[in-house]
Amino acid sequence: MEKPETPTTLEELVDQEFGRRSFVKLVGLGIVSAAVGMIPAEFAEAKAEVVTKKKFRYGMAIDLKRCINCKACTMACKLENKTPPGVVYNPVNEEEIGEFPNVARRWFPSPCYHCENPPCVPVCPVKATWKRGEDGIVIVDYDKCISTGNCIGACPYGARMFDLGENYPAQQTEYGKIPSPEYYGKYGVRQKNRSPIGKVRKCTFCLHLQDANGHYTRPPACAETCMGRAIHFGDFIEGKCIVHECNLNELVTKRHAIRLKEELGTEPNVYYLL
Ligand code: SF4
Ligand code: SF4
Repeated sequence: MEKPETPTTLEELVDQEFGRRSFVKLVGLGIVSAAVGMIPAEFAEAKAEVVTKKKFRYGMAIDLKRCINCKACTMACKLENKTPPGVVYNPVNEEEIGEFPNVARRWFPSPCYHCENPPCVPVCPVKATWKRGEDGIVIVDYDKCISTGNCIGACPYGARMFDLGENYPAQQTEYGKIPSPEYYGKYGVRQKNRSPIGKVRKCTFCLHLQDANGHYTRPPACAETCMGRAIHFGDFIEGKCIVHECNLNELVTKRHAIRLKEELGTEPNVYYLL
């Protein structure tokens, strides 16, 4: 299964995510530079510096038979992480399957896949993004990020995007003064000229919900909210799902499970159950 229309250049990607004017604006600001012209396939061979000894390998098994396209996961994520307009960590994409007249639609929530070999990591010239050795979560240091956009172009899944500094009306009221819990609240209240504005953003697997030992105190917002119980989140080393009574490894072996663009060697930690 493929996502619809994967952009082949950063220009197309920004165009798709934010619209033409945003791309022009980013070029004008010097935010888009070396990444223009890079195509995701070029990073098929790229290997990140990954520490293999992990305490956890967090990931998801998303049951497409259970997803009803309600987009509650998308909204729960936005509320949890207080993301602004244009920053959507978990959109629900859709595709048409079958052949006329036997066609159907299916929907697939699309967070960052926290790949085992993330091509977004080695292209960062300042090491502002990396894969955590202890749990495999791929993160971004907004203060280190210099906004080249290389990682946006390198991700074959379109999981990364710029924070262009816009705010919802509610973010300009008292609500906006509540700090986002993202990265344990490190970046505080959203303010002009301060991180994460102007930086690259993406799903963090809600790592702020982990305790000091790396265990989740509650499931990531998208998984917790899904009323169809489609999103199983947990640790692939032990197999334990922390949202529902199930074993992730059994799910992905007993059901027909796929990962997107396996041929690139990225080894996403998000499986789709067909
Ligand atoms: Fe990086 Fe994209 Fe993989 Fe996330 S889905 S780890 S952003 S390559
Ligand atoms: Fe959003 Fe957290 Fe789900 Fe990632 S794991 S899509 S950050 S709610």
